Amino acid sequence: MLSTDAAGTLRARHGEKSITDLTVIQKLGEQALGLADLTPAQGLRLLQCQDPTGRELIRHYGDRLRQKLVGETVTYVVNRNINFTNICEQHCNFCAFRRDEGDEGAYWLNEAQILVKAQDAVAQGATEICMQGGLNLQAKQNGSSLDYYVQLITRLKTQFPQLHLHAFSPQEIQFIAREDGVSYTKVLQALKNAGLDSLPGTAAEVLVDRVRRIICPEKIDSQTWLDIVSLAHQLGLPTTSTLMAGHIETPAEIITHLDRLRQCQQTSIHQGYPARITEFILLPFVGESAPAMLRKRVGRDQPDLEQCLYLMAIARLYLGQWIINHQPSWVKLGLAGATKALQWGCNDLGGTLMEEHITTMAGAKGGTCLSESQLQTAIESLNRSARQRNTLYQLI
Ligand code: SF4
Repeated sequence: MLSTDAAGTLRARHGEKSITDLTVIQKLGEQALGLADLTPAQGLRLLQCQDPTGRELIRHYGDRLRQKLVGETVTYVVNRNINFTNICEQHCNFCAFRRDEGDEGAYWLNEAQILVKAQDAVAQGATEICMQGGLNLQAKQNGSSLDYYVQLITRLKTQFPQLHLHAFSPQEIQFIAREDGVSYTKVLQALKNAGLDSLPGTAAEVLVDRVRRIICPEKIDSQTWLDIVSLAHQLGLPTTSTLMAGHIETPAEIITHLDRLRQCQQTSIHQGYPARITEFILLPFVGESAPAMLRKRVGRDQPDLEQCLYLMAIARLYLGQWIINHQPSWVKLGLAGATKALQWGCNDLGGTLMEEHITTMAGAKGGTCLSESQLQTAIESLNRSARQRNTLYQLI
């Protein structure tokens, strides 16, 4: 608890009401540090703090919990991002990446082009290919969507068995299953058999259907996202988890989202599933190329860094011992912003990426490629040690 002196100083500086708030924050911070889960009401109480001293206290606890759970080392992965097509049947409100077939800028990489990119990634020391794309109705092999995706994975894995293939969001899994009229289990199992190693937990946006109906009405609902992630874990495919924040969601909806991720992970652990959520990534909304209505409603185009940092600390405290790796997005926040997040509860700087299209087309300013030495220099500027990891957080 606060010492009498500290409390006195804070009272003098901030008045009685603030000291009460600070005492509550301190109590909740200690609770999280003791690995006792925060309730949704407690998470919301923290998230609603506006006072800079209170926010600094939350940062302090987020940082201490990071230290306790994962230590001082900051990790990164050498990977290549491949967005293999931007032709997509859906029209998410925030998406500047999608095109209809025949539109200017529409593209669909063929297998040879994808293999060349993977070869280049290997030459640059990548351990992972991260592959996602639009929902392209033409992407079929012998009339089967699943066959197309299986062949893609098979070719990549056969040629580059050393690469970890981190590919296809729960939305893409649902798309394949729907196109072929088969179960999610069948899709996941077939992809795993072909060599898929893990799934990105993207397309989660905010796991609250009110929000989804506004920003991505054609996407899978919250429960379907959670069901597919849970099934992946049962079948031995790890996933990541994400939150796209900073648009129309309320603080309570952010906490609901974090709570659903935490529950999903708890189920996987308690049920003894062979795979888990490996990390949490905050993906702040970038709206520069979003439709005018959404831009107007949000009121800014680039992420609010201060709010993002604060949210990273809250996510660290709320996800506690259940999801221990936390990553900011340097593509969206810039490397300097992402480096700051390492003092707000994060322990990982993500990947080198080598190329990125989805967020960059939305107007993000962070760039599309970073070298290992850029990541290392950023980490070491905080006097923390930098270590390369693989996709599953084993140090290399
Ligand atoms: S976010 Fe994904 S599913 Fe939505 S329109 Fe863009 S590419 Fe398609």
